[in-house]
Amino acid sequence: MVGNGLMFKVRYGPYHAFSLRMRYSELVQSDLAEMPWIDGDLVLAVANTVVLDFPGDPTSPSLDMLAQEETLATWRRRVPDAAVAELPLGALLELRSAIRAALDAIDRICPVPDDARDQLNTWAAGAPITFTLTATGRLSFVEVADDVIGRLARETLRSFDEKSGDRIVRRCPAPGCGMFFRPGRRDQSWCTVRCGTRARAARHRQQGQRGKEGR
Ligand SMILES: [Zn+2]
Repeated sequence: MVGNGLMFKVRYGPYHAFSLRMRYSELVQSDLAEMPWIDGDLVLAVANTVVLDFPGDPTSPSLDMLAQEETLATWRRRVPDAAVAELPLGALLELRSAIRAALDAIDRICPVPDDARDQLNTWAAGAPITFTLTATGRLSFVEVADDVIGRLARETLRSFDEKSGDRIVRRCPAPGCGMFFRPGRRDQSWCTVRCGTRARAARHRQQGQRGKEGR
């Protein structure tokens, strides 16, 4: 919401926390209070706890929902899995870092950095699954161990199990977003219609600005 005057605490790199007007962020307070993007996809719930002002520029200001008590509490309340919601913050941050590295690699179609890959592989080994067949012929899988980190690492790795070569996870490039999403269509560029509208408006403004400067 451009020019809405809302101020967010923003982290700029690991050490400097300060307030900055999120000019492009459409994350109004009600969004942060409800986090409507959280659904049953726990990998995305952990990954999507950072909002980037300019997703194409990794050094652009970001809003880290796990870095503030209030948004962390909202996140814990909204995540639909008690074991994930109750993860200690340190473990959660470590897990998020590896998950985001993996999803970022899928989005950019490049290899996952070795440390994140090793970590996910190691964690996933702690959460094997087995199958059971019901009397009616339904196959279902069963968790063997009660290992929440391993479970999420395994589900992250499953995002790579794609035969068609399509990216099954993408990062929304809209200013004030940068959320990862699983596209419902091949040509889906934005996580939501709202992000598409905002990104087009931003591009339009930029072009208008360039037009004025060119005069
Ligand atoms: Zn978006």
